[in-house]
Amino acid sequence: MSASKTKPIRWGMVGGGRGSQIGYIHHSAALRDSTFELVAGAFDIDPERGRAFGVDLGLDEARSYPEYAAMFAAEAERPDGIEAVSVATPNNTHFAICKAALEHGLHVVCEKPLCFTVSEAQELKALSQARHKIVGVTYGYAGHQMIEQARAMVKNGDLGEIRIVNLQFAHGFHSAPVEDQNPSTRWRVDPTTAGPSYVLGDVGTHPLYISEVILPHLTIKRLMCARQSFVKSRAPLEDNAVTLMEYDNGAIATVWSSAVNAGSMHGQKVRIVGEKASIEWWDERPNQLSYEVQGEPARILERGMGYLYPEARIDDRIGGGHPEGLFEAWANLYRRFGFAINKEHGLAPDGIEGLAFPGIDAGLEGVRWVENCVRSADAGGVWVDYL
Ligand code: NAD
Repeated sequence: MSASKTKPIRWGMVGGGRGSQIGYIHHSAALRDSTFELVAGAFDIDPERGRAFGVDLGLDEARSYPEYAAMFAAEAERPDGIEAVSVATPNNTHFAICKAALEHGLHVVCEKPLCFTVSEAQELKALSQARHKIVGVTYGYAGHQMIEQARAMVKNGDLGEIRIVNLQFAHGFHSAPVEDQNPSTRWRVDPTTAGPSYVLGDVGTHPLYISEVILPHLTIKRLMCARQSFVKSRAPLEDNAVTLMEYDNGAIATVWSSAVNAGSMHGQKVRIVGEKASIEWWDERPNQLSYEVQGEPARILERGMGYLYPEARIDDRIGGGHPEGLFEAWANLYRRFGFAINKEHGLAPDGIEGLAFPGIDAGLEGVRWVENCVRSADAGGVWVDYL
């Protein structure tokens, strides 16, 4: 990958303050390739803590704002004001903050879930199109190089017709009611802050998006979902869910979303079964992709190797053998967000235009999937047409 010839995009953050779970990876990924430059922020629900955090990150004190509305208004008045903003706050704030950012003419990188309902997502999509602004959604695992390899293998027919898709993101960290002590978990199990689901939106949408990247030609026709609250106090939100889906080509998928898979770390796995061969990827071993041809010994494809498809090698940062991880995957996504933003600004492409990145449609589809799963589960776990 050649270095970008464009200037860094002036960038701000909402949320992701000191001690937050995901703020650090946003800074690290966005700044990794100098695609973005952090110049402003409203980092925290506590204005003073947020201001101090921004100053520690090296911001001009006047641009470390007490809240996002003040930041959008003040930055819009500056000739060197922010051009893009990332939103890394709890779920219930995403819609209002993204809407305000787009109305202020900003490109947006938003955490998942994009918002609570399909109609809200459609409103954001219409606004982003009307204002010619990019909305990226941080389905961060999709930036791993072996996901591009899997996408190219399916496209090139290495697996044959796709029959079965087996998805899971099933960790064990919330097997007990840890929310009693942990504020970062507490908002996730409260419908007013988390939205209509817990694990479906919090973890299930990650492998769902990866399956959309690998299998862009498949469309979900109908699904059925059952969801449970094994820690009773979490009801009506689920801490475990099983979804069965049918695609329009007759293929079938299962998605296991869980926070109570005791003993499991992440447990995010994607297995795609075709008529000739299968591939399997596990986010705890992201540098490897298992390629299993029926009747032959299984092969482990390694990141960074010359035998990968060219689309996958574009993401290579350090060559085979050296392990890459989540920071590199997120940096790959931020580089693509930057590419899309620069393209909107009429600046020259830098050679990654063919790569998939989670944009507004990915955000919308994640919200749509959760809405359909909840509709099925709440009707008793029945098949519902995918709306
Ligand atoms: P967290 O509770 O650990 O941190 C939230 C941060 O937002 C805190 O710094 C808080 O002070 C700040 N905040 C809250 N309201 C604010 C407001 N109105 N204005 C400014 N700052 C505000 O939460 P988290 O775990 O970091 O999750 C944040 C978001 O990121 C959630 O939507 C979550 O779903 C998402 N997330 C995504 C991934 C991923 O892999 N993409 C991983 C973890 C979390």
